[in-house]
Amino acid sequence: METSPSKGGAPMSLDVMTVRLHLRRIRVVEVTVDRPERLEVRVRDARRVVRCPHCGFRTDRVHDTKRLKICDVTYGGRSTVLVWERRRFRCDACGERHLEEHPEFVLGRRTHVTRRLARTLVRDVNRLPIRELARRWDLGWHFIMTLTRWWSARVVAERRRGRCRILMVDETSLRRRHRYVTVLLNGETGEGLGVVKHRDEKALSGFLQAQGHRWCRSVKVVITDGSESYRAAIRRHLGGATHVVDRFHVARWFASGLVEVRRRIQRIGSKGARPAYHPDIFRSRYLQLRRADRLDAEARERLERILGTDPELAHAWELYQALHRIYLAADDAEANQALAHFIDGHYTRTLPEFEPLIDTLLKWGDEIFAFHHTHRITNGRLEGTNAKLGVLKRVAYGFVNHRNFGARALLLCPAVP
Ligand SMILES: [Zn+2]
Repeated sequence: METSPSKGGAPMSLDVMTVRLHLRRIRVVEVTVDRPERLEVRVRDARRVVRCPHCGFRTDRVHDTKRLKICDVTYGGRSTVLVWERRRFRCDACGERHLEEHPEFVLGRRTHVTRRLARTLVRDVNRLPIRELARRWDLGWHFIMTLTRWWSARVVAERRRGRCRILMVDETSLRRRHRYVTVLLNGETGEGLGVVKHRDEKALSGFLQAQGHRWCRSVKVVITDGSESYRAAIRRHLGGATHVVDRFHVARWFASGLVEVRRRIQRIGSKGARPAYHPDIFRSRYLQLRRADRLDAEARERLERILGTDPELAHAWELYQALHRIYLAADDAEANQALAHFIDGHYTRTLPEFEPLIDTLLKWGDEIFAFHHTHRITNGRLEGTNAKLGVLKRVAYGFVNHRNFGARALLLCPAVP
C-alpha cells in the first residue's frame, strides 16, 4: 500500500497500527516513508531546553536545524532510517553556539547509526564477515570496522582499569606461521586485555609499561609459553609475580625426547622403500604419548608388547612417564622426587634425544615447578580462547591488519551478549 506523506500522522486506512520506536528522549515528528520494505521517520530530541556546554546556563534558542540520516534496526523486516532534526543552539548567556548530541545515536563521519544498531553490528561482527554485514545493513565496510574498533577500545579501556591477579600471555598468528601477535587475558575473568603486534620482549614490555607500576604490582601469577623473550619482559616488569610455564607447552617439551627416539628407531628401510617404518612402532605413536595412569588394561598390554621390541624405546617411555609425574605429584617434594628419578634414569642410559630436554629443565625449572605453588593453574582458558580466535580467523578469511584482528578478538573474549 503506497501512502502519501501527510501532516499530522499516517493517512486514514484500515490496516493502520502504531509502531513504537522505543528510543529514550526521542519524539516522532512524522512518518515520511511507509513502504513494505522501508520505513523513514522524522524525529527530534524530546527536550526543549538544553544546557550550554560552554557556560552551563540553560537555553532553548535554536540557531538552526540540520537533518541527519540515522540507520536503525529493522522493524518487522523493514529497513528503517531515522531523519534526526539536529539542532544547533545559541546560548543567550555567553553567545556561543553548540550542536546537540543524543545518547541513542552513534555519529560517524558520514554514516550514523542508533546505539542499538551499533550494538547489533558489534555483536554480529564475530559471527559474520564484515562484508556480509555491510551488505545486509547497506552500510560501508569501513564504517563497521571503525565502529568495531571504537567499541572494542572502550570496552578494553574499562577492563584494563581493573586489577588483574592472574595474567595469561600467549601468541597467535594472523595467518598460518606468520604475522604473530601477543594475546593478553585476565586469567580469572577470561576477559581479553590486549592484542599487541609481534611476540617479542618489546611487545609484552610495551603492554606492561602502558599498564603502569600499580597495575603490574597487582599481578600475582603470570602464565606464558616457554618463550625467552616473554620471560625477559616479565623479569623486568613483573618481578613480584610468580611466573608459570603453561602445562600444555611443558607437555610438548616432555614429549619431544620420546618422539625423537621413536623417529630414529622406527626407520627400517631407506627413503622411498616400503615399508620404510616399523609398522607397529609407527602406528602406536599416539599410544606411546599417553600418560601411563590413563591406559586401560588392553592399551597397556599392547604398549608393553611394542616397547618390548626395542629397549631404547622402552627406556625413552620410562623417562617420559617420569616427567609426567612431576605434574602428577601432590606437592613440591614429590615433584622433586619425580625429577630426580628422571635424571637418574637419563644418566643410567643416556639417549642423545633427551639432552636438549635436560637443558630446558635447567633453564625453566623454576617456572615449571611454580605450578605447584599457584593452585595448579594452567593456560586452559587461553587455549579455549585460541580456539575461538581460530574460528574468528576462518569467519573473516584471515587477517592482514593486527588492529582489526585485535578489535574483534577482544570483543570475542568474552563474547558481547
Ligand atoms: Zn553559554
